[in-house]
Amino acid sequence: MSTSVRDYYEVLGVGRTASTEEIKAAYRRAALKHHPDKNPEDEGAEEKFKAAAEAYSVLSDAEKRERYDRFGHDGVRGAGGPGFDPTQFVDFADILGDLFGFAAGGDARGGRRNGEDLKAEVTLSFESAAFGSEVSLPIQRHERCDACEGRGGRGGAAPATCPTCRGQGRVQYRQGFFALARPCPDCEGSGERVKDPCPECRGDGRTRRARTLTVAIPPGVDDGARLRLTGEGNSGRRGGRPGDLYVFVSVASHEQFRRDGFDVVLTWAVPFHFAALGGTLRVPTLHGDASFDVPPGTAAGRVFTLKGKGISRLDGRGKGDQHVLLTVRVPKKMNAAQRDAVEKLADAFGSESGTPTKDEKGFFERLKDFVGT
Ligand SMILES: [Zn+2]
Ligand SMILES: [Zn+2]
Repeated sequence: MSTSVRDYYEVLGVGRTASTEEIKAAYRRAALKHHPDKNPEDEGAEEKFKAAAEAYSVLSDAEKRERYDRFGHDGVRGAGGPGFDPTQFVDFADILGDLFGFAAGGDARGGRRNGEDLKAEVTLSFESAAFGSEVSLPIQRHERCDACEGRGGRGGAAPATCPTCRGQGRVQYRQGFFALARPCPDCEGSGERVKDPCPECRGDGRTRRARTLTVAIPPGVDDGARLRLTGEGNSGRRGGRPGDLYVFVSVASHEQFRRDGFDVVLTWAVPFHFAALGGTLRVPTLHGDASFDVPPGTAAGRVFTLKGKGISRLDGRGKGDQHVLLTVRVPKKMNAAQRDAVEKLADAFGSESGTPTKDEKGFFERLKDFVGT
């Protein structure tokens, strides 16, 4: 007996003496709650939905239930197992079909189908991502056909009942012990057929359209972010709900600034005499220039932090900081006067040519020279 399979009564949350009606009601509740169409974000929902369906397939059948009660899962082996798809069972159509999408992908009966999700990509400048922006996004999507008002028939005629499946959307067949159903091949499970299709949409009820959406990009969005625009995907058919549009964001790099979460890093080179003597440094930030004092004798690699000069946090809780990583610029060429001055400097310091030194600490360990602005 498999230990990974949960007790069927436990799955449905009913007692071992539950009546058929109680079991049916429990399954209905579980199926409604965990249906994959209702929980598109939750990958566990489908497993729960299938587990409930499997439990119901056994407990709703008096013979199987008795064997399950006596022998456990071994008594009903074959009803579950790998590849088991409870939505194939005719019984489930009766209990679920009218409530919501029946099989994964939506209930085709009545022609109602949910629209597909769509993807789009936008590339933002560093500043647009930092401050937020509105972008025009051209997309192609399926929208309700105006010519037939989404019905699919010429002149807006509604589809007729499919004669093959008599509107059921599925045809039954037997395979050994089980009565199984598969989507009707003549109406693709919709239960309806358009006799004289609308010439605009060829009976689909939808036509392809080019649209330009205005998308509001929130301040603080970063490279790799995914925005979901609910209901902006393909239209559903025959009253099905529309899909969503997922916008994948790329952020272009900046020639000066680098981004680290909601912080901005600027590497700034000062002349070596500035590092030695110190002074007031003026640097660009996303919010205009900012000034701060650099103490005399500042070594290359020191980081100064300008509080609140970074990027707006997506949760609205203020802004990140800007870190200024100081480097020291050594002149490659000097004019005669400069060279003369440096040589005097060398005389003043003596003939020292360096000493061993400890490794500089890591960049983030040095983020402690906060500068008030
Ligand atoms: Zn049409
Ligand atoms: Zn049919």
